[in-house]
This record gives sequence, C-alpha cells and structure tokens, in this order.
Amino acid sequence: MIQLYIPLNFLGVLYREIRQGLIDVERLFTLLDSQREIADRPDATELQLQQAPEIRFEDVHFGYEREREILRGLSFTIPAGQTVAVVGPSGAGKSTLARLLYRFYEVGQPGQGPQASGRITIDGLDLRACTQASLRRAIGIVPQDTVLFNDSIEYNILYGRPDAGPEEARRAAQAAHIHDFISALPQGYQTAVGERGLKLSGGEKQRVAIARTLLKDPPILIFDEATSALDSANERAIQAELRQVARNKTTLVIAHRLSTVVDAHQILVLEQGRIVERGRHADLLAAGGRYAQMWALQHHGAGAASPSPELPGHE
Ligand code: ATP
Repeated sequence: MIQLYIPLNFLGVLYREIRQGLIDVERLFTLLDSQREIADRPDATELQLQQAPEIRFEDVHFGYEREREILRGLSFTIPAGQTVAVVGPSGAGKSTLARLLYRFYEVGQPGQGPQASGRITIDGLDLRACTQASLRRAIGIVPQDTVLFNDSIEYNILYGRPDAGPEEARRAAQAAHIHDFISALPQGYQTAVGERGLKLSGGEKQRVAIARTLLKDPPILIFDEATSALDSANERAIQAELRQVARNKTTLVIAHRLSTVVDAHQILVLEQGRIVERGRHADLLAAGGRYAQMWALQHHGAGAASPSPELPGHE
C-alpha cells in the first residue's frame, strides 16, 4: 500500500533519482512501498574522493522484510580501481548488493536499528556517515533499464553532467559508440526520444547510459547488467565499452551472464545471500567448484559457440 504520508526528504531523494533516470517506474513503487526512509545523519560528512577508492563490505546482513534475510554476512573488498563481479542464480541477492552500495537501502533488517550488523565503507568511511548527495555524486550507475526522458537525445546524454556542453556530449557519445547512430538521424542530437519520441533498442539505451556515465566520470561505477540478453555482437561491443569506462574506477558488476565477468579482478559467486566461492575466472575454473559447474552447464546447455550463456536460474 502506498501511504498518503511520505516523508518529504524521501520524496526529494526519489525526485532526484527519477530526474537522473536511475530508477524505473516499477522500482519507484517498490521504493514507495518500502516505507524505509534513508535520511542523512545530522553530522553526515561529504564524501570527497580525489581518485578511485577502496570499497569494503564487512559482514553485511540485509533483509527487505523483518523475517527474511537476503544477505547473510557478506565480506569482500574491491581494491581501488579494480573490478569485482558478482554472479549467481536468480534471487541470490546480486542486485541487492548494488542497491546497498548506492544506499537505496541500509544494511540490517527493518526494526533492527543502529546496531544492525555489518557495514559498507568507502576509503574507510561508513556509508551511513556520509551525505547521500555526495555518495551519489561519486557513483555512476549503468542500470539494467535506462530510463530516457521525453526530450532530445542530447539532453538525455547531458543528464550525466548538466553543466557539460554539446561538444562534450558528442565526445561521450563517440566513446560510447552511439555517435554515428545519432548523427544518421534526420534531426541528429535534437531527435526526441523516450516514450513519446524515438524508441531506442536495449543496446542503444545502454549506450546512452554509458555516455552519461562517461560525462559524469565518477570514481565508482556500478554496472547492473541487463537481464534480457542483447544480441551477441551488441553485447560484446557494450562490454568492450564498459571496460573502457571502468578503467581506473572502482567497479561492481552485477552479472547475469558469465561472459561478462571473465576479465574481472575478482568474481564472487553468490548463493542464497552467501559468497560460496571467490577468485579469478581461470582459478575458479581450475578449482572445479560451483563456478566451473555453472560455466560447464552454460556451455553444454547453450552450445559451446554461444558467447553469452545465461546463468542457471534465469528463463
Ligand atoms: P536476478 O538475477 O534475478 O536479478 P538477484 O540475485 O539480483 O536476482 P535480488 O534482486 O537482489 O536478486 O533479490 C534477492 C531477493 O530479494 C529475492 O528473493 C527478491 O524477491 C527479494 N527482493 C528484491 N527486492 C525486494 C523488495 N524491494 N522487497 C522485498 N523483497 C525484495
């Protein structure tokens, strides 16, 4: 039930997120429904990062509801400038990790209060001790579904950094490999997109999100891979572009396909809210455990030639 009374601060946060295209309508309702207000502490400090930071999850427990724990004591570190990828079956809690890092939710379970177990730190600073605005300035998200505003494509790209100029938008579009597509449209960068304008494909929308993120140039990156598979040529291209964006940034990749994670500095295999394996791709294959099993299953199941096998647990 959506309550009639919604704290103003929460509405403000929602408004910002929607303006930034970070959540879709479905999530909006999930958030409204969650009745959990994330408020800055009175003594919250500004997160100020000169370069890519170290991110630590320390014994993080989390549940959306009181009686149902989703994350059961996760600990891992993303060293400064490195990439950690999370894989695992549907419902394991992968996207929840990203939501906690972005502080859509706070660690712990409803009703648990400040003694909630676990914490997430950025260069040693607890997320709960920093302002949400400064945290969100430091993080760029390439979400599963990029929301486009009913406005020009240029406006949509400039959303990454509204004070940037058209020339910078073009450079970002070039780096995200969407410039040629835009230039070929009769109205170019002024083409209206979104629900009432030109509809873009999943891959094109992700490229817009990548261009936005390139403009924003944040030290931390979250990539929540689209659940629905793109065609394999498109997917390979997007992955190459993301590698470019992620260079020298501290990156968390939520992967739905194993092909995305091969290059990660560390892969975490998540099952029912626990890390059951961790390591690099080659080491995990050699270990012959859960990851190797998933890899083999995908290759045999989807055919050895498939470059983007789906993870078990997905339709
Ligand atoms: P997928 O690969 O399918 O995206 P995932 O590993 O990313 O799955 P999460 O989205 O993190 O999984 O969800 C983990 C669990 O938390 C699921 O059981 C889901 O039903 C539950 N969950 C997710 N969002 C909410 C919410 N807003 N309220 C209550 N439960 C939720």
